[in-house]
Amino acid sequence: MKIGILALQGAFREHAAAFDALGVETVFVRLPHHLSGIDAIVLPGGESTTQDKLLDSSGLRAPLTAALDDGVACLATCAGLILLAAEVLDGRPDQRPLDRLDLRVRRNGYGRQVASFEAPLAVEGLDAPFTGVFIRAPRIEHVGESVEVLAEHAGDAVLVRAERIWGAVFHPELSADLRLHQLFVNHCP
Ligand code: GLN
Repeated sequence: MKIGILALQGAFREHAAAFDALGVETVFVRLPHHLSGIDAIVLPGGESTTQDKLLDSSGLRAPLTAALDDGVACLATCAGLILLAAEVLDGRPDQRPLDRLDLRVRRNGYGRQVASFEAPLAVEGLDAPFTGVFIRAPRIEHVGESVEVLAEHAGDAVLVRAERIWGAVFHPELSADLRLHQLFVNHCP
């Protein structure tokens, strides 16, 4: 199995390190041809407004959307989840989410950088709590019917899944805990 990691901006190296530690092959995706032969793609955290623009300048927007529609699995974290959402509040007016997870999200919905925090999360499929690292995290304000909630924090969905597309508002790649990456790999077709 080979996992592509969108490497336009943000915390892509940390995801690569997590999959390396699990013995899973990764490739950085910066151009459309980097998508060929991948089974899954990671959309990392970072800055969704910047990533949104870079999707266009790299020529990746259409081929990435096509790959998702062709059955490539996806793990989207924080800004990556914003890219996949159906609706983004407090985004830039020209931000165009890919609409592949039926969610309404509010950018920076937990506050600014100073309001970043960690919290233990009970995750469906894991025996013991997983420490969620929330950094200027988006807040999920609405979850569509096609989306399953795998973890909540204070009543809000924070880890979700719609078949092979996973989204986390927190940063599993910053936890020194590989269990979420492993869970994702286990569920990849
Ligand atoms: N607030 C950022 C955004 O809107 C996301 C933060 C993150 O990925 N840690 O893109």
